Amino acid sequence: MATQPLIFRKGLDMKEAVAGELAAAYHSALVDEVRAGNYRHEKGRLTVHLAREFGFCYGVDRAVDYAYQAVARFPGRDVFLTGEIIHNPHVNNRLRAAGIRFLSDPAERARELGPDDVVIVPAFGITVEEMIDFMARGCTLVDTTCGSVLNVWKNVVRYAQDGFTAVIHGKVKHEETRATASQALKHPQGRYIVVLDRDDAAVVCEYIRHGGDREAFLARFAGAMSPDFNPDTDLAHVGCANQTTMLMSESLEIGEMVGAAMRDRYGDAVSTHFRAFDTICSATQERQDAVEALLGAEPVDLMIVVGGYNSSNTVNLARICASRVRTYHIADPACLLSAGQIRHRPVGAPSTVRADEVVTEGWLPAAGRVAVGLTAGASTPNNIVGQVIETIERYASA
Ligand code: SF4
Repeated sequence: MATQPLIFRKGLDMKEAVAGELAAAYHSALVDEVRAGNYRHEKGRLTVHLAREFGFCYGVDRAVDYAYQAVARFPGRDVFLTGEIIHNPHVNNRLRAAGIRFLSDPAERARELGPDDVVIVPAFGITVEEMIDFMARGCTLVDTTCGSVLNVWKNVVRYAQDGFTAVIHGKVKHEETRATASQALKHPQGRYIVVLDRDDAAVVCEYIRHGGDREAFLARFAGAMSPDFNPDTDLAHVGCANQTTMLMSESLEIGEMVGAAMRDRYGDAVSTHFRAFDTICSATQERQDAVEALLGAEPVDLMIVVGGYNSSNTVNLARICASRVRTYHIADPACLLSAGQIRHRPVGAPSTVRADEVVTEGWLPAAGRVAVGLTAGASTPNNIVGQVIETIERYASA
């Protein structure tokens, strides 16, 4: 008989035991000081304006906490993460140093997991098939899937139950979107299609309104649809959802675009053909709102956005900033090479890791007063934000 899996979803009763280790790894006294100083930090000719919401969100905070708790709770057992716990190399490296192994590492891929193994599910979740596999193997599971992601899944499952195709605004290769899409297949009539942006959404809308070249449609969305997707029948009932970390304004616009197309196609019967709900998580929204507020209130010379290059919410924060002011998306303080040079990911570049970094000269005005706006994605800990402030301060006073 298969061993029953043990699943921890509400902590592992080791919070106090790991609190000191977490604070030592991720806390920043300087960031606390800047917060207490009305999110403003002055030193010589430099003023740093920090967004009022930035860095670790509640979901990431909890996931990292549970990962440390898992190591403390199961000494002597192998503890694995399915992949990156969050998209921040600094945090992932620290977890490796704490003894956690990554199933995504080439050396671990062939490993046959069993009842002695502990597997941590990251905040953005895993696919239904992966979950079933770990459970069948009797692994102990520490499931840190964020409540905001679970909320999206609940709605996608409801769409599937009711015969609605989930139109998911997201990145098809992102773990969260893959996991969300898999939820749609829990029911035999479940369908999904992933749209990356307004251009993809416009193609879907055109097909809803007028039909079109079926083969061309299938080719465009290859790999981004449920198996055997048929746009002629599967776009008759659709419900919108999104990866929780997308640009909120774009998700809302895509929802409106699809809604308008369904109204054009089905007229007064639209309510029986179309559903939508807002699935941007509050933490993502607060960070996007905070950066808009900062840029509206403070005349900054440039913006620095800190976070992993594959972090969707960080990329979107950088997009918001770049539409208003000169913006540099950096992965960590080491990207601030000197007072003259900055290594960064060009805003709008395809989402990969360091491969598409560039070095730009003259990022920091060489003389006179300078105001730098600063924010960080939901997977960036405070110690990294603090180190970025210290580094800018050093170069500004050199
Ligand atoms: S970004 Fe939002 S959905 Fe993702 S882990 Fe953080 S709080 Fe949860």
